[in-house]
Amino acid sequence: MNLLDLLAGNLPAFVFLTFVFGLLIGSFLNVVIYRLPKMMQRDWENQAREYLQLPEQASATTFNLILPNSQCPHCGHEIQVWENIPLLSWLALRGKCSACKAPISKRYPAVELACGLLSAYVAWHFGFTWQAGGMLLLSWGLLTMSLIDADHQLLPDDLVLPLLWLGLIVNSFGLFTSLPEALWGAVAGYLSLWLVYWLFKLVTGKEGMGYGDFKLLAMLGAWGGWQVLPLTILLSSLVGAVLGVIMLRLRNAETSTPIPFGPYLAIAGWIALIWGEQITASYLKFAGFN
Ligand SMILES: [Zn+2]
Repeated sequence: MNLLDLLAGNLPAFVFLTFVFGLLIGSFLNVVIYRLPKMMQRDWENQAREYLQLPEQASATTFNLILPNSQCPHCGHEIQVWENIPLLSWLALRGKCSACKAPISKRYPAVELACGLLSAYVAWHFGFTWQAGGMLLLSWGLLTMSLIDADHQLLPDDLVLPLLWLGLIVNSFGLFTSLPEALWGAVAGYLSLWLVYWLFKLVTGKEGMGYGDFKLLAMLGAWGGWQVLPLTILLSSLVGAVLGVIMLRLRNAETSTPIPFGPYLAIAGWIALIWGEQITASYLKFAGFN
């Protein structure tokens, strides 16, 4: 019996292995969340310098998702392999750098755990199928985008656009919906928020969201078809309202800080993709349509 047969025939084993794999992916996502915005910033600065015909920045050291190795931001101590095991290292080090004892943010193990749990849930929900594979990639992408957007009010095209294409590609095989429904999902997703943006701007003179949000909803439409859009928009407003109130409480009502819309869209889209049909069916039953 080889590994693939074992995983196909044993759901608990598949869920457990996906959980462990998800922890490792979460560790890598921490790197992406931290470094990708910095890489984009460097890129923009260099492009601006080139345009202004200024010399390139002196600090032209290599900085990408692989290099340099992770360091403690306080003392520069290079993180060793044994200090880089998801969750376990953070627990073993009691959340402190092994060299200078500066605290390591709880967010790193939290992202690893969240990624592990999300991955395990996807494995359990879809079983050992291609759908599970597609949904895992999408979930990792959504988790990364949400945190980058929360940190920087920025949804990187480098993440959103490849995943939009991937949604159309997987649905060309009918993985989650048909290709025409995925295509119109992408179009309608983009246009619906674009329309809201311009109406809001005409009425209030303010910008309520960014173009990244339109692309993110287009991406979700590409994965789930146009059918997931109404529920995604409805849920994102609900999630936004609930989390918005909680965050206002936590931040002592600093109403001026902008609250990015991307994480709400991402959470709502994920829920709509996984439970959309059940939610809509039970709502219709509740409302007496069935
Ligand atoms: Zn240190």
